[in-house]
Amino acid sequence: MGRVALVTGGSRGIGAAISKALKAAGYTVAATYAGNDEKAKAFTDETGIKTYKWNVADYDSSKAGIAQVEVDLGPIEIVVANAGITRDAPFHKMTPEQWKEVVDTNLTGVFNTVHPIWPGMRERKFGRVIVISSINGQKGQFAQVNYAATKAGDLGIVKSLAQEGARAGITANAVCPGYIATEMVMAVPEKVRESIIGQIPAGRLGEPEEIARIVAFLASDDAGFINGSTVSANGGQFFV
Ligand code: NDP
Repeated sequence: MGRVALVTGGSRGIGAAISKALKAAGYTVAATYAGNDEKAKAFTDETGIKTYKWNVADYDSSKAGIAQVEVDLGPIEIVVANAGITRDAPFHKMTPEQWKEVVDTNLTGVFNTVHPIWPGMRERKFGRVIVISSINGQKGQFAQVNYAATKAGDLGIVKSLAQEGARAGITANAVCPGYIATEMVMAVPEKVRESIIGQIPAGRLGEPEEIARIVAFLASDDAGFINGSTVSANGGQFFV
């Protein structure tokens, strides 16, 4: 059995592609999800990857879920904090609830996911932390004050963990996808989708597998000197 990798939100969308790519690369993968049992079951039936249900926004649930994964599969050596949500609204209409839900999931959820795994990584002197941020955390986005703030905050988490973990053999890196052809993006009206595509120099959406291959590389031994980096994959839409 290969190293154990945990992928939050790993049952569908970009996370599912990441789970599959890591499995194909030889890792033993645990994929988490929030509540869509049907999708999770279909994913396990299709891939043989074990799924676990907990809310990343809740520290105690995350800690208990992670402990269970480690009992079932062994110590987690690769963690991909991918679970994320949007609750879009222009700022003047954004409710405190929309703000809080997104912060709890996309920002605190990364803390809740990595924090219980971190001590074991330090003890074993190896770890890979990979956080899925977003192009909109780099450049901001209309109606996404909440989302952009969390995704920018995720980059701060990664850069700080990179410094804390380096001597302990742990790397922490972020991937910032541009617009990717997941259910979320494919569900928007065709006209809106066409206008999104019109803003992408590549003239197309990204594929979940294009993000997954970056994650698989960052998880590999070959990526051992990449630490604190942000890998952008957005078809040329934004550079830093
Ligand atoms: P999807 O909506 O397709 O999938 C989200 C996954 O996260 C699902 O497995 C979902 O579980 C899980 N999830 C959501 N909330 C929670 C929670 N509170 N606790 C545990 N699991 C949760 O998302 P995408 O694949 O589109 O996005 C994945 C990541 O990539 C996100 O962080 C997103 O912000 C980021 N991203 C996406 C882009 C895109 O174009 N799609 C662009 C840039 C960044 P369940 O199935 O049970 O709901």
